[in-house]
Amino acid sequence: MPRIHILSERVANQIAAGEVVERPAAVIKELIENSLDAGASRVEVEFRQGGREILRVEDNGCGMSRVDALLALERHATSKISETADLDRLATFGFRGEALPSIASVSRFTLQTRAEGADAGTEILIDGGRQVHVRDCGRPVGTSVEAARLFQSVPARRKFLKTDATESAHLVQCVRLYALACPRVAFTLVEDGRVVFRSPQCATLAERVAEIFGRQLAERLVPIESAEPGLRLSGLIGRPGEGRSTRNELMMFVNGRPVDSRALNFALLESYRDSLPEGRYPRAILFFECNPADVDVNIHPAKREVRFRRDQQVRGFVIRCVLERLRELGAAREFEIAAVDRPPGLGEPAAAFGLPHSAAPAPCPPSAFAGDSRPEPPRKASARGEGRVRNWRFLGTAHELYALYETPSGIVLLDRRAAHERIWFERLRAQFAQGPVPGQRLLLPVPLELEPIASAILLDSRPFIEAHGFEIAEFGTNFFRVEAAPQWMEPADAEPFIRDLLGELRDGKLAVSSLDLARDELARLAAARAVRLPPAGDASAMEEFAARLFETDSPLTSPAGRPTFIEIDRAELARRFQRP
Ligand code: ADP
Ligand code: MG
Repeated sequence: MPRIHILSERVANQIAAGEVVERPAAVIKELIENSLDAGASRVEVEFRQGGREILRVEDNGCGMSRVDALLALERHATSKISETADLDRLATFGFRGEALPSIASVSRFTLQTRAEGADAGTEILIDGGRQVHVRDCGRPVGTSVEAARLFQSVPARRKFLKTDATESAHLVQCVRLYALACPRVAFTLVEDGRVVFRSPQCATLAERVAEIFGRQLAERLVPIESAEPGLRLSGLIGRPGEGRSTRNELMMFVNGRPVDSRALNFALLESYRDSLPEGRYPRAILFFECNPADVDVNIHPAKREVRFRRDQQVRGFVIRCVLERLRELGAAREFEIAAVDRPPGLGEPAAAFGLPHSAAPAPCPPSAFAGDSRPEPPRKASARGEGRVRNWRFLGTAHELYALYETPSGIVLLDRRAAHERIWFERLRAQFAQGPVPGQRLLLPVPLELEPIASAILLDSRPFIEAHGFEIAEFGTNFFRVEAAPQWMEPADAEPFIRDLLGELRDGKLAVSSLDLARDELARLAAARAVRLPPAGDASAMEEFAARLFETDSPLTSPAGRPTFIEIDRAELARRFQRP
């Protein structure tokens, strides 16, 4: 029989290290957190060969006395909490007291530290968990921790490390996150002797972003700030229509801590759904704050994941804030453009080409119904649209699809389909919100034969479908007839539209249980599939069309998130033609 025995401290630490510091970036994370917890105003990070050869973090924080430094290397030694209740009012990054002993157990570990008022510093060297020496050293107040030959004593772990380039990417991303979390702390990152970034203390997040990602990105992001009792959201977000192909530029912080949070990710992606094409991700650096008691950071040893006590409330709040901001941005952009004065020498003032709103009919799908009374959503005070269209002069259409306009600042290519969908999406959404949609009886009812599942779905959701302008009669098993369709729809489109709708109901994209969302989705589907694009009109109609687009809440994108127009400014044109 094997005898039971307690693992040695060293083995226990190596096992714990597997959880706390599974890769070089995790080591750097723990060390930076310690520096920040120590009140440092300057943190320097250096690594070589993807962190395999050396990782070092140096700070000018409070430092440690020799006694404390030795204690800090014991497991579960921490100065940050003393009872579990403290977890609910946590104000530090660290609290588990595991990082230093874990790192020391899997590397050649050198700690140098000096506390304020101490005559000399202390240096402690530990190799693979065994103490080599403790002695005096000279250094300024603060702490430096170096972990060399990481995981060399644990070959099983070392094997799991990816290429240097991959580990390096993780390291850089990690340091950036903390640099963003604490703009007021100066950060330096050095890789293989080369400075990756060096940022002085910054007054604002935007400055810090410019320091570490460059001015160009910083200028593309816009501030967001919102609060409700007990909840606060702030940071920087990307403009509508400007997406990325990966989530890498989506950075979240909860109570100042960089985290992965499903709830926040979900809320952000949901908010951008109408503002980005499918498969594109927004850029965002978002700080969410709430009562520390309402968020659990202790669900993973690396403290990267967090869980909210009131998940739904958090999602709802974030979606509201971001949506609100995106709407404002749709409008703000247009003021920017409209405010540009028309430079002299560009021909007729564009105002001559703009028409009063009532003069030209909006582009609408042709309707087969006599006495057509298409839904007219309540018009907004249209200062925005008028200001805008006065400055857009229609020049022509290319490939039937693209309308070309001259604007004071350059030229605009407008995707007629995308713009048309945006206008119709909002028009229908407004109409759906007003209550049941009247249908128009079809002269020739359209037969609809469905397979059993689709037919069950239709029967289940018939009240919803009929509230939106359809009338459907059942004629025996799996056999129906569409007897009325919404006024804005071509009768020929009714049957394929209902099939599309049943498809969405079937795979859950549209759920009638949540009526508001279901209406939005229905409007989106209708704008995309059931609203026909009329031929391009004359100049006044096309300028009116642009005005209509700018009356919508999100003129920059289609409901599916595609850009509605591309603007090429005069400077860009001049550059392309190499004009002197
Ligand atoms: P935790 O951060 O969870 O408390 P650690 O093992 O990371 O556990 O650190 C143990 C203790 O060592 C900390 O509580 C802190 O008191 C001290 N310490 C660690 N790093 C530093 C540092 N850079 N400056 C000052 N004190 C530090
Ligand atoms: Mg720590």
